[in-house]
Formats: sequence, structure tokens, C-alpha cells
Amino acid sequence: MNINQHSYPNLAFVDIETTGSHFDRDRITEIGIKTLSSDGIQVWEQLINPQAYIPLNIQKLTGISPQMLEDQPSFELIARELQQQLEGKIFVAHNARFDYGFIKASFKRVGIDFKPKVLCTVKLSRLLFPDQPRHNLDTIINAHRLKVSARHRALGDADLLLQFWRVCESKFGNEKLNEVINQIVGNPSLPPNIDKELIDSIPDSPGCYIFYGDNKTPLYIGKSISLRSRVMGHFQGALTQRKEMKLSLQIRDIDWIQTSGELGALILESRLIKERMPSMNIKLRRSKDLCGWSLVKEDSGALTPALVTHHQLAPGLQDNLYGLFYSKREAYNYLKAIAKKYRLCEALLGLEKRVEGKSCFGFQVKQCAGACLNLTPVDLHNLQLKTALELF
Ligand SMILES: [Zn+2]
Repeated sequence: MNINQHSYPNLAFVDIETTGSHFDRDRITEIGIKTLSSDGIQVWEQLINPQAYIPLNIQKLTGISPQMLEDQPSFELIARELQQQLEGKIFVAHNARFDYGFIKASFKRVGIDFKPKVLCTVKLSRLLFPDQPRHNLDTIINAHRLKVSARHRALGDADLLLQFWRVCESKFGNEKLNEVINQIVGNPSLPPNIDKELIDSIPDSPGCYIFYGDNKTPLYIGKSISLRSRVMGHFQGALTQRKEMKLSLQIRDIDWIQTSGELGALILESRLIKERMPSMNIKLRRSKDLCGWSLVKEDSGALTPALVTHHQLAPGLQDNLYGLFYSKREAYNYLKAIAKKYRLCEALLGLEKRVEGKSCFGFQVKQCAGACLNLTPVDLHNLQLKTALELF
């Protein structure tokens, strides 16, 4: 295929080496770029002094030692030149959000706003070779018999991406590739292994969502009153937050269950997490934040929930303990949700200050059935509260 006849925009095939995987804490040690334009192929590579420690396992993987970087420029010194290299080109990388995230963060530290169009070659491979079970670089190398020059060095890996692109060109032609570029570019925040159609099919209504990793193992379970927006929120967060990025790279499939409202979503989320024990939820939740509600009888005869924290969780308390919740916030959210659903009084529940003889705020907006004004008998309010807490 004649490169002078290609009809798509200029492409910069980029790979970087780093001191680790945190793009806020770690630094770039090498950048390699192969640019494909109407002028042919241009090559740019640069070692960078990260001014930071390089872990031994990474030194072994890349072969880049601190001695090699001692006399190399810092990122700040090469930033302008790099910017010129990438300007006006589509940024092509494997698991692009990693390379893109690092370069974007590095530019930001020196006051440069970097917003290229991004093309991820994992997504490209998934779209064009859907039958291939995996799309990591080693699989692609084997599947298409690419020539490896320097694996795990920036320019060597960037060259593999260019070779892969050539394979795609010869198998599918420019027109198809152009279509695929348009499909992928413009959605840089979607995880590499998830289709836009799948996201689009998630309803924006209350419910729980489940992120799956390899072999349908549950990674993360969450709930929201608007499922699609919440799921998209994770992926947008992946461009700036490390935990979200890690999650996003591992996601292979997404499932969801709609519920009739917020309360249903809360209960379902708790049940699903206990049943399926998704690895990321377990990591994010600490048992020291465990708490529950126990009911205390006031002089008025009204039962009021009191928060019982991890330290106070004593054996024998269980028959008057409702929960458990993984955080105070979750416990309060649940209480607020049942108040809303069963028209309980937030003043009686201790969620707002009670003024004798006066209604709560909820009564004024027709959310409280009026237990604060004795319009609902205290015993009935107590029973409704107990029933609602027992749902959890
Ligand atoms: Zn009230």
C-alpha cells in the first residue's frame, strides 16, 4: 500500500516507559513516536530524566537504568518539542488512556493543556478482530506475526503499533479504517474492552450495575438513581483517577438490574455485594467503618434510630441491630431513603431537630405523613420504621 495515498488524518503512534503506573506520582522515562503522514514516516524518541526513583522490576523490564537517564533532559525541557511532534495528529497508543494520561499529566505540570484526539489500538483490534480472545500487545504480535525489535522500549513498542496499523490497512482498506477511526476517536473515556452500544443500552433509571473482569468475575458493584450517568462517571474519572483507571482497564462486561427506586437499589446493592464479593468493593470498603442502626425508645414512646459504630458492635446486640452498613454515609442514606418511601418523620428519626408542637420540614413538602403532629399514631410510626429497617 502506498502511504502517499492514505486518506486519513496524520497519526502519531506513541509509546512511553515510566517509573510506575500512578500518573500523579510516577514519571515518564522514555517516549517513542512514529508518525505516519503524507510525508511518510517520521521517528522521534527521547529518554527523559524522571528525577524520581525507578523500581528494580521496571528497570529489568525496560532495560532503562538510572545511569542511562542521568544526563538526559527533564520532561520540562523537551515539552515544547514533544508538543510540536504531537500537534494536529491523532494520538494512537495501546491502552491509550495510560500513555495519554501520563503525557497529559506531565504537560499539565508544565502548564500545557494537551487535548489530542485519541485512538486506542486495543479498541481497534477488538473492532476489527472480534474473534480474537485477547487484545494485549503480545497477542497482537503473535496473531499478526509482527516483527519485534525492542519490546518494552518506547520506540520498539510504537513501531509494533505502526506494523499493526499496516496489517489493518492491507486487510480492511482505507475506507473501513476511516470508519473505525471515527467510531473510536471521540470516545476516549470509554474502557478499551467495552462497546459504546453496550453503554448506550444501559437505562438512565434507578438500579444496580455490575462490572465484570476476565471470566465474568465481578469487579465492582454499585448503585445509582441514574445508571448510565453513573457508569459513565466511572469512565470519565478514569482519565484522572488512578483507582478508576485500574478498574476501567479490567472491565470486560457490564450488567445491570433496574429497581423501582433508590431504596430498592440500596437493598439490592447490599445483597449483591454480600453474595458476589466483587474484588474492588472489598478493597474500597474497610471493616472499621462498619455500622448499623439500633432503636432507642424516647420518653414520648417514639423509637429513634441510634448509630452503632464498629467499636460498639457487641455480641448480643444483634436483635436490636439493623444493617450492617459499610459507612456512616450509607447508613444515613438508607434512613433517608426509607423516610422518603414510607413517609416517616425525619424529626422523629433524629435526621432534623425536633421542635415540640411544630411540624418537620418534610410535612410541609408533603413527605412526612405527620407523626410529628401526632397525625400518625406513634405506635404506627414505630412499626413502619421497624418494618422498613428489617428490609435491609
Ligand atoms: Zn414530620
